[in-house]
Amino acid sequence: MTMSTVGAQFGPHRHARGRAAVPQHRRLRGGEWWRTIPGWHDVDAATFHDHRWQLRNTVRGADDLAQVLGERAQPAFLADLRAALRRATMAVRVTPYTLSLIDWADPAADPIRRQFLPLHSEQEPDHPMSRMDALAEQQDAVVPGLTHRYPDKVLLLCLDACPTLCRCCTRSYSVGDDTEQVDKCDLQVDPRRWDKAFRYLRGATQVEDVVVSGGDVGLLSAAHLRVIGEALLDMPHIRRIRFATRAPAVLPQKLLSDRDWSETIGDLAARGRQQGKQICVHTHFDHPDEITEVTRQACDLLFQQGVPLRNQSVLLTGVNDDLETMVTLIRRLAWINVEPYYVYLHDVVPGDDALRTSLADAVELEKNVRGQTAGFMTPTFVCDALGGGGKRELHSYEHYDQQTGIGVYRSPVVDPDRPFFSFDPLRTLSARMRMAWRSPAMRQTMVARAVAAAGM
Ligand SMILES: *Cc1c(COP(=O)(O)O)cnc(C)c1O
Repeated sequence: MTMSTVGAQFGPHRHARGRAAVPQHRRLRGGEWWRTIPGWHDVDAATFHDHRWQLRNTVRGADDLAQVLGERAQPAFLADLRAALRRATMAVRVTPYTLSLIDWADPAADPIRRQFLPLHSEQEPDHPMSRMDALAEQQDAVVPGLTHRYPDKVLLLCLDACPTLCRCCTRSYSVGDDTEQVDKCDLQVDPRRWDKAFRYLRGATQVEDVVVSGGDVGLLSAAHLRVIGEALLDMPHIRRIRFATRAPAVLPQKLLSDRDWSETIGDLAARGRQQGKQICVHTHFDHPDEITEVTRQACDLLFQQGVPLRNQSVLLTGVNDDLETMVTLIRRLAWINVEPYYVYLHDVVPGDDALRTSLADAVELEKNVRGQTAGFMTPTFVCDALGGGGKRELHSYEHYDQQTGIGVYRSPVVDPDRPFFSFDPLRTLSARMRMAWRSPAMRQTMVARAVAAAGM
């Protein structure tokens, strides 16, 4: 679909066309849809919505998938998946809940499948500038798993496990099992490592804001969650704590059936409020199909406990890079009281170039999104600039050349003199330009010219 046809559909006078049916974004999937998958045909709702069952039955590769899909498995699709996994930087791990939302009649075209299950037929060569740790988080780590890049906020990686592994992961240097391509750095659940981070933070009194991430804090036990939350709340200078988990999107059962866990979040938030501090949950939905009636219930549980819930999406080709999908996603999030916070340009990490978009397309999408709904429900589109520049608002580049695909950003707070970069996927460049990127000398020249054009 082209931008202009979608733009017309979402044009300024659409709201004036009289009373329409229930809008798309309010129609949430319900019922027992997973029963159409042969392996789960006999699984009742009580079992399916138990987070322990979900974790026990997580699909960890093509063999698991073939078994679950039974006669619905398409041999060509499975062969395509197997071929992709031989060169993947991220292993496969998908919860039954997420897997059940994929349209198995046409998995190749499905936007949820694209996020979690790679296909050889859609893989593209990596951009030569791609890096495993594109955001230089390890370089800026003050103790293992604690990145302190900005004056008053830090990123604490508590664990390296996730219930579902995303292909676009920027932490594929650590998260997930080793693959045939990568041995990963360990950041396991380890209270002694956390103690080192807490010791640092007690002394770092300029820090007011802690992002507790991973991995996914949805895989921490309630007891560990409490240990981390209370240690941080006990530091008078820390005023804001965000727990990052994709559980609302890929394992909403965690919130609904592990009441210990969700009540711990609620308790910490209540204790925080008494101290004048804010505790919230940051999550990650990329496509409106990920939001079901179960999601709504899970998010309501947090909302009713007064825990703000915010969303960070990644812009992905063929998943959410068209206006209609992005607007439906944003409206659906707003409908269930999840604030769309950021939409990230896909980081320049290896193994997923097929899903990256160009900066030009992202900028165009942003222009068409802004104004569609309340400003406070409209996400900021950002680029986490290569090399550790941190998040930059997409439009704020110093220089961008659509021919070379190089974007140059300044990040005065991180380092006023260093240029930081974005690189468009090779697929969006001309054949001549793709050739140029193959030559290390040409690469250097192109980057140097872009930096000069940016006046740096
Ligand atoms: C994203 C990030 C933060 C939080 O940034 P916000 O823009 O406030 O969401 C903090 N530290 C690091 C290293 C980060 O990458």
